[in-house]
Amino acid sequence: MSLKTRFLSIAAALIVIAASASWLAYQKLSEDLIERWGRQVAEIQVRYDSARLLQSLEREIGLARQMADSSALLSWAADPSDQVLENTAIREMESFRANFRDNSYFVALKENGRYYFNNEKDEFGGQQFRYVLNPEEPNDAWFYQLIDEGRDFHLNVNPDAELGVTKLWIDVLMRDSEEQIVGMVGTGMNLDAFLQDIVDINQEGITTLFVDYNGAIQLYRDRNYIDFASVIKPEGQKNTVDLLFDDTEDKQKILGMLQLLKKNAGNTGYVESSFVTVEGRKQLAGVAFLPAIGWFEITLLDLNTLLPQSYLWPLVAVFITSLLVTLIVFHLIIQSRIVKPIVGLEEAVEKVRNGNFTLPRLDKPDNEIGRLVDHFEKMTASLRDTTRDLENKVIQRTDDLHRLARIDPLTNLKNRRGLDEALDEEIQRAERSGNGFGVIWLDIDHFKSINDQLGHQAGDEILCRVALWLKAGVRPYDQPGRWGGDEFVILLAPCDPITLEHVARRIRETVEQESRKTGTPVTVSVGGYFSKPGDNIDTVLRNADNALYRAKNEGRNRICINPPENTEINPA
Ligand code: GH3
Ligand code: MG
Repeated sequence: MSLKTRFLSIAAALIVIAASASWLAYQKLSEDLIERWGRQVAEIQVRYDSARLLQSLEREIGLARQMADSSALLSWAADPSDQVLENTAIREMESFRANFRDNSYFVALKENGRYYFNNEKDEFGGQQFRYVLNPEEPNDAWFYQLIDEGRDFHLNVNPDAELGVTKLWIDVLMRDSEEQIVGMVGTGMNLDAFLQDIVDINQEGITTLFVDYNGAIQLYRDRNYIDFASVIKPEGQKNTVDLLFDDTEDKQKILGMLQLLKKNAGNTGYVESSFVTVEGRKQLAGVAFLPAIGWFEITLLDLNTLLPQSYLWPLVAVFITSLLVTLIVFHLIIQSRIVKPIVGLEEAVEKVRNGNFTLPRLDKPDNEIGRLVDHFEKMTASLRDTTRDLENKVIQRTDDLHRLARIDPLTNLKNRRGLDEALDEEIQRAERSGNGFGVIWLDIDHFKSINDQLGHQAGDEILCRVALWLKAGVRPYDQPGRWGGDEFVILLAPCDPITLEHVARRIRETVEQESRKTGTPVTVSVGGYFSKPGDNIDTVLRNADNALYRAKNEGRNRICINPPENTEINPA
């Protein structure tokens, strides 16, 4: 994996970890915030809804209480058969009817079970006595149940089969001066209008319901859930609030909250809240107890509707954008400060490794990598100079060796190898140009005896001198060499047969004359040959050698040119 990919992967992994952690923290925080906010909203909403309900009811309850305490009604209840008292009581009832919100009332007397009622249309004006309640009749059970319970005040949602209306009834017991129950009065409010005003308030995301002391649903927008005539239903058959929840845990939770609120009934304004699931949606349930009516008020807040997650999307967008920007900036910094210089350095190292010391312009960031690149450049420059020096020396040495390999160390003339190469070149040149060249092969006469008489050292000196005379006796472009021992070969080019003979003679003479001056006279026998087209090295050398052989044979200290007819044999 390349450095760049590795850096990017690590950066991406770190950012993903950081992002996940931030995201979880953000989720937790936003959930906490929403929950805190939701609980506060739930508390406020519960109090607000309770206040609205109580406001509507309190006046009616107050009026019903006044009616129950009315002396006209109490006197009549004590003596129901008294027609005068009844008339007075009915007038009193009618005056209360005018004040009740729904302009309706009922009065039921315990002694004779007679039930009086009139409504907003004054439908029963003059016939307020409607019927006699029957303890055996299930529809009338509420009356006897409430008297049995002895609760002074009661709210009851009940369809009145006789009257054909469903109403929220406010029932207040009438007690005489000895606190004995003598009857019941109250008013009934149209349930639909009431639900519309108090419960079905059309606030999206907020559901309000009221349940009685036992958890039976009393006011709820869906009438199917309302537990009508709760008072007469045995426990277990009531539509209790837990019906609204699918989850057993939620059912227990809500019933537990009701219990807790009952315990804290004295603590006005105390609100319990908890998350529950209703109709598959998570909602925050706020519950308060309303001691004035003995009911609970439950407000369900759908936080997703009230505060949709989409509100937080801009935040998420900012979060993601900043993550991306961070990644890009990180990438650019790593790229320019680390990856690019290192990749450049790696390429440069590869070049130097392959012997190329010409570096491209390298990135040098102001950091450790930049300094490393700088050191590398200096190291490369030094390596380049050293290598160049070494190469020059090697060339020099190779040249020297090449030259030395072709030079005779004693005489400094070409040796046999040098002569071979020169001869080869001359043969090729002669082939190209068609012009022949001359070869002289000479040998010192009786050199063995010179060595024997004067010593090897003196022999060497004579060899050196002969070499010097040869060099001096030929033209600058002729090539004298030592073939070996006391034998020398000279290549003459350009040349012609006359020049060949001329040079051969001059050499013989020079050696003879010059050596005499040294006090150690020596002579040489000289063979010469002028090349012909098609000659090779062997031919040329053999011909020259044959000429020398003849010169030796014919008495030494003479020149002999091959072929023989060209030869002048005798010395001077
Ligand atoms: P010839 O006239 O027939 O040539 O008689 P020569 O004695 O010269 O016989 P030849 O040429 O065959 O002998 C060459 C002698 O040269 C033999 C050897 O002792 C001697 N010699 C060869 N190389 C060297 C050398 O490098 N230094 C010395 N001092 N003597 C050498
Ligand atoms: Mg000799």
